[in-house]
Amino acid sequence: MTEQTPDASRTGDRGDRFYRRERDDMNQKGLLAVVSGFSGAGKGTLMKRLLEKYPQNYALSISATTRRPREGEKNGREYFFVSVEEFERMIREDALIEYARYVDNYYGTPAAYVAEQMEAGRDVLLEIEVQGALLVKKKFPDTSLLFVTPPSAKELERRLRGRQTENETVIRERMTQAVREAEIIDRYDYILVNDDLETCVDEMHALLCSRHHAVGRHEEFIHRMRRELSDLTSGETPED
Ligand code: 5GP
Repeated sequence: MTEQTPDASRTGDRGDRFYRRERDDMNQKGLLAVVSGFSGAGKGTLMKRLLEKYPQNYALSISATTRRPREGEKNGREYFFVSVEEFERMIREDALIEYARYVDNYYGTPAAYVAEQMEAGRDVLLEIEVQGALLVKKKFPDTSLLFVTPPSAKELERRLRGRQTENETVIRERMTQAVREAEIIDRYDYILVNDDLETCVDEMHALLCSRHHAVGRHEEFIHRMRRELSDLTSGETPED
C-alpha cells in the first residue's frame, strides 16, 4: 500500500496492528513486555482495560502459582493454581521462562503460551514481580520492562486496604516488599504512574506501539526501499 488513506483500520478498537500490517508486511512477530509494580498499584485493572481496548494487539500471559486462589479468582483465568509438587515438576521440565518465590509462594511464566502468541503477532505482557522481570530481560534483552506505581506511598497503602482480600499481616508484608521493589525501579525501562486509569492505559499502549517502529525491526523494509530508490533513479544523471 503506497497511499495512506484515513480508514477504519487506522483508528478505534481494531488497533494499530492492522494499520501497521497494511503498510509494512514484515516483522509481524509480537514483542515481549514485562509489567511490574507494587502489589496494589492497579496492574490487574490496567491490563484488563488494555486488553479490552486493544484485543488484537495484546495477549496476557497466565502464570502458574502455588498461592491459594483469592475470592473470585478462577483456575486458568487469573492463574493456573498448582501444587508445590506440580510447580517443581514444571521447573525440572524447563516449562517456565522464569520463576520466583514471592511472599512464600512460587510464581512462574509458562513458556509455550508466550511463544505461541508472539508467533501470532501479539505483544505478550507478563505481569510479574521484579526478580522475574530481570531474569526475563537477561534471557530476552529485547523485552521492555514497565514499572507501574500509584502516585504516592499513602495511596498504595489505601488501595491495598481497600481490596479487603488480605489480612493485616499480608498487607504489612506487601508494603515491606514494596520498599525492596522501589530499590529496583531504576533497572526498568519505563515508569507509569497509575493515577487515572484511562490515561495510564493510553500511555502504556502508546509506549508499547512505539517499539514496533524501531528501525532495527524494519531492516527488510529499509533494504526494499533502498532497492526501489536505486531502481527508480538508475540511469538518471544528477542535475547540475
Ligand atoms: P499476587 O499474589 O498479588 O497475584 O501476585 C504477587 C506478585 O507475583 C505480583 O507482583 C505479580 O506480578 C507476581 N507474579 C505473578 N505471576 C508471576 C510470574 O509468573 N512470575 C513472577 N516472577 N512473578 C509473578
